[in-house]
Amino acid sequence: MHIEIKTPEQLRAMRKAGLVVAEGLRRMQEATQVGVTTADIDAVGRAVLAEAGATSNFLGYGADYGAPFPGVACISVNDELVHGIPGERVIADGDIVSIDFGAVLDGWHGDAARTFSAGTPRPEDVELSAATKEALWQGIAAVRDGGKVSDVSKAIERSIKGQRRRYGNLREYTGHGIGTAMHMEPDVPNQARGAPQTRLRVGMALAIEPMLTLGLHQTVVADDEWTVLSRDGSRGAHWENTVAITPDGLWVLTEPDGGEAELRARGVPFGPLAD
Ligand code: MG
Repeated sequence: MHIEIKTPEQLRAMRKAGLVVAEGLRRMQEATQVGVTTADIDAVGRAVLAEAGATSNFLGYGADYGAPFPGVACISVNDELVHGIPGERVIADGDIVSIDFGAVLDGWHGDAARTFSAGTPRPEDVELSAATKEALWQGIAAVRDGGKVSDVSKAIERSIKGQRRRYGNLREYTGHGIGTAMHMEPDVPNQARGAPQTRLRVGMALAIEPMLTLGLHQTVVADDEWTVLSRDGSRGAHWENTVAITPDGLWVLTEPDGGEAELRARGVPFGPLAD
């Protein structure tokens, strides 16, 4: 397995891409109002990329295998779990919306996702999103120099199973290494079973991304070849961040504060690299 190890200089360059992703997600979430289309939201992501002089790692993705992805963000609503194609779908009151967005700046990739409700949230959706976000941060908190990828998978699974309510934990889709490409080795599964024992070390960057449903874990892919739906029609949530291991700790490249608040609250060393 080849795992890309970044120099401090390269991680600083990745941080710049990560901040573009964070800003895009913030502005797209702000734009997600009842009555707008998912294409309108995607257009906001395009504007953020253009302003930053960044390009999209989502747009045109998969052209080698089939239908190239036509948006700069995956926008997945309700029982659409991940990989939703932006289009004419109109956001309705109470929809749960997941936005997965990426950017490439100076050849370095960032990738992150957020989930939230539009209009009046359903209480169970709020809990679902919070449980998914907590699983993401538990996974991030398990990343350390000398540890293993499977530690991260185990922490995510444990977090989900420790919730008051049962959630479906998607199996066919995983987190991944990231750097000069969006999807690199190693895979970062959201279950301990079969997770790689690959060693983690300083200079590695991972995109960690739990995906949960209010029902079962089984999925189907829509006729558009992209949209992943829950088989039982249950709603889903998806949270993701790109995290780097630095000599001083962790640096969450796609969070505006670098992950400082969440990491400190969990007693995990926060290790940003100064310019
Ligand atoms: Mg990803």
